Amino acid sequence: MVIRFAVLNLQYWNKGGRSMLAILVFGIFLFLVFFGLAMMIGLPIGMVLDYKKKQHNAELKASGEKKQCPYCKEYIDPEATICPHCRKQQ
Ligand SMILES: [Zn+2]
Repeated sequence: MVIRFAVLNLQYWNKGGRSMLAILVFGIFLFLVFFGLAMMIGLPIGMVLDYKKKQHNAELKASGEKKQCPYCKEYIDPEATICPHCRKQQ
């Protein structure tokens, strides 16, 4: 469906005298613009969320609510005998 629409679109554009190469270059340009925008928005959000998670885990570890699994480094209950993430004996 999407591919058929794209082909029809290309044929329509081609009738107007535009070359396929120009359309391709324009498509790549659009892709890069949207990819760049997604990176500019997504990367900082991801970094902030990652930082907050690390901070939260450090607080839990400091307060004794969680301990870090020595095998997979995930934060788990201090009384756990088996890690729920990697299934190793504590
Ligand atoms: Zn583990």
